[in-house]
Amino acid sequence: SDHALAYPKSPEDMDWASLYPGYATAKSPEEEKDEQGGMQVCESHDVTLSEGEQRAPRAITKNVEIADIGCGFGGLLFALAPQFPDTLMLGMEIRTSVTEYVHDKIRAYRAKHTPSDPQACQNVSVLRANTMKFLPNFFTKHQLHSIFLCFPDPHFKQQYAHVLRPGGIVYTITDVKDLHEWMVGHFEKHPSFIRVEQEEYDGEEDDDIRKKVRIMRTETEEGKKVTRNNGEKFVALFRRVEDPPWP
Ligand code: SAM
Repeated sequence: SDHALAYPKSPEDMDWASLYPGYATAKSPEEEKDEQGGMQVCESHDVTLSEGEQRAPRAITKNVEIADIGCGFGGLLFALAPQFPDTLMLGMEIRTSVTEYVHDKIRAYRAKHTPSDPQACQNVSVLRANTMKFLPNFFTKHQLHSIFLCFPDPHFKQQYAHVLRPGGIVYTITDVKDLHEWMVGHFEKHPSFIRVEQEEYDGEEDDDIRKKVRIMRTETEEGKKVTRNNGEKFVALFRRVEDPPWP
C-alpha cells in the first residue's frame, strides 16, 4: 500500500540517470551534488527514498515522453522501445514483484546488446508507483506526449491532463465494455480532452499514432490473453487540447 511507497518531492528530485544510464549527462554524481547541494533521491526502480544517503539526482539528456500506466509485465514497452528508439518511455506499476520482473528484463536486454542497439532498451525504464496519486511528482506539466492506459483497473484522474502536453494523446484499451464507456464518458466530459476519430488511428498508413495503436492492440500481456480468448478490445484515444486562456 501507499505507505510503503515513497515519492520524489518533484520531478527535479528524481534520479532519472539511474533509470536511463545511457542518457545520463556526463557529470558525476559528486559534481551534480556540488551544484545542487545534495537533494533527496529515489533508488532505482522501487522509488524508495534513501534516507541516510544524500546522493544528488543526476540529469539525463532528454525527458521521458511516453508513460505506460499500470504497465504490468511491460509487453507494450518492449514492443514500443525499438520502434521509437529516440523516445524515453516509463512504465509505472503498483505491484512490487511485477515491477521487479520488468526491471530485470530491462537489465537483461541492456546487458545483452550494445548501448546503441535499439534492442538494448536504453530508452525504457520502470518504476513502482501508485499512479492514481502521484503522477505530478514524476512529470512536469506538459512533459508527456503519450499516455497509455491498457486494460486498466479503473482509474481516472485530472493528473493525466496536467502531465500531458497540448496535442498529446491518451491511448486507452480494455476488454471491459463498461469500463470503456466509463473512460470515454469521463474523458469526453473533461474540458482538456477531445476524442480522436477512429480514421486517425486505424488504417494503412504508418504514422506514429497508428503504429502505437497497432502495438497497443497486440503486444500487452492482457491484450494477448484477450486475443487468445477471442475477446473484443475497445480502443479509444483522447487528445489533450490547449489550455484555455483563463486560469
Ligand atoms: N497494461 C498491462 C497489459 O495490458 O497487459 C497490464 C494490465 S493489468 C489488467 C492492470 C495493471 O495495472 C496491473 O498490473 C496493476 O497492478 C496495475 N495497477 C492498478 N492500479 C494501479 C495504480 N494505481 N498505479 C499503478 N499501477 C496500477
